[in-house]
Amino acid sequence: MIERLCVIGVGLIGGSLARALRDAGHVREIVGASRDPVHLQRAVDLGVIDHFDTDLAAAVQGADMVFVSVPLGAMGTVFRSISHALPEGAVVTDGGSAKASVVADINAAVGKVPAWFVPGHPIAGTEQSGVEASFSSLYQDRRVILTPLDETDPAAVDRVRSMWEAAGATVSEMEVAHHDEVLAATSHLPHALAYTLVESLARMSEQREIFEYAAGGFRDFTRIASSDPVMWRDICLANREALLHMLERFSHDLNNLSDAIQANDGERILQIFSDAKSARDGFSG
Ligand code: NAP
Repeated sequence: MIERLCVIGVGLIGGSLARALRDAGHVREIVGASRDPVHLQRAVDLGVIDHFDTDLAAAVQGADMVFVSVPLGAMGTVFRSISHALPEGAVVTDGGSAKASVVADINAAVGKVPAWFVPGHPIAGTEQSGVEASFSSLYQDRRVILTPLDETDPAAVDRVRSMWEAAGATVSEMEVAHHDEVLAATSHLPHALAYTLVESLARMSEQREIFEYAAGGFRDFTRIASSDPVMWRDICLANREALLHMLERFSHDLNNLSDAIQANDGERILQIFSDAKSARDGFSG
């Protein structure tokens, strides 16, 4: 049970966690914090948080759990604002989509990796942003990855694990670098591709009526290009090395397909598509 949860960044990710924990009866009081009081008042009106403070150091007072769910580019500022103000015994965790950058940010803010910080990442989300988009079942039967370090207090990891389990998620642990490689492949690369495809076609569409003929497959494949551009710019920069590596691999494979088409090599094209289909059919989700 959490006595007082402080959610810094009450948007899709933070708002959904607050809703889920409240529904589960796992939290007594929820305080929200971010830059804009209008956003925070909306979160109060929706019943997501009980009250708020735009002064982050004041917001963490009395909290036994702090969840930071701001864009990756804002993590450092948040850590600098709260690290000197945390109550004794408070655990801090985050929901950022890349983990090495978050660990570097907390290290820079505190001067070391603190025992009370548990890096985390819920593998759940939508292309919507803001507290209006949050919903309590977002984490139901979804995975959450925690990436504790040698310095992390195991009791703090247990408390964060219990929090996510109360929200309906299944929790696993991974090393920071491994997390960033896996997520570069399965999430960051697909988002980069979707944004690039839509932007490329949008420029063509200035001369032609391309989007008039956009239907099922295009809609499915590009839905994620409606995600928040600030958040995804931050993710690309925060996970730069792993994403560049994946982009290089993918460019190589795309060139192979291009060569096969150029050479009228139907057998090779069929092989690529058949391998892809059996891989896709082999996993659910
Ligand atoms: P969101 O809906 O846009 O919410 C972000 C919140 O952060 C906003 O409420 C904003 O409120 C606040 N914020 C922004 N800059 C801030 C600052 N400098 N100081 C304090 N608060 C600040 O974004 P989200 O989708 O919840 O994403 C939050 C985090 O979760 C990101 O790190 C993202 O990488 C991660 N994540 C996202 C998804 C997804 O699918 N969306 C999935 C997994 C993880 P104000 O404007 O009032 O400051």
